[in-house]
Amino acid sequence: MVFEIRKYGDDVLKQIAKEVELSEINDEFRKFLDDMVETMYETDGIGLAAPQVGVSKRVFVCEDGSGKIRKIINPVIESLTEETQEFEEGCLSVPGIYKKVERPKKVMLKYLNENGEAVEEIAEELLAVVVQHENDHLNGILFVEKISPMAKRLIAKKLANMKKETKRIMEENE
Ligand SMILES: [Zn+2]
Repeated sequence: MVFEIRKYGDDVLKQIAKEVELSEINDEFRKFLDDMVETMYETDGIGLAAPQVGVSKRVFVCEDGSGKIRKIINPVIESLTEETQEFEEGCLSVPGIYKKVERPKKVMLKYLNENGEAVEEIAEELLAVVVQHENDHLNGILFVEKISPMAKRLIAKKLANMKKETKRIMEENE
């Protein structure tokens, strides 16, 4: 099943998502994760966080560029270096906008997998970008809030219009 992507201006994208309880990780939950992966592929994304499909839980799925998929529950991310990298990011919830974001180059990623097992791994390069971008979604933060002041000014009108359009569609669907 492919979910509808929530767009900029939808309040669910601004909420702090809730931790997943171990008891919630069952077949139904795994089906939800599979649907998120399907949605990510259908929309040509390399990462998708649960709030983007209207579910305010600390979960995201991602792909690291090699085809390996990760289903990540209750992530904790710690920076392992002072060194940063700049990467042009985009977001399924903010369509048509691509801007450079500076983030730590190497991070420790701790999470539960779809079987509820604890996983720890070091993420670098593209994977580091993706997991930090997706983790931000769980804290109600979008990449457009982390770009330079100049870039922010350039897209301010586009974002305002996007928000208006999202609110209009939401009202229509009520
Ligand atoms: Zn995003």
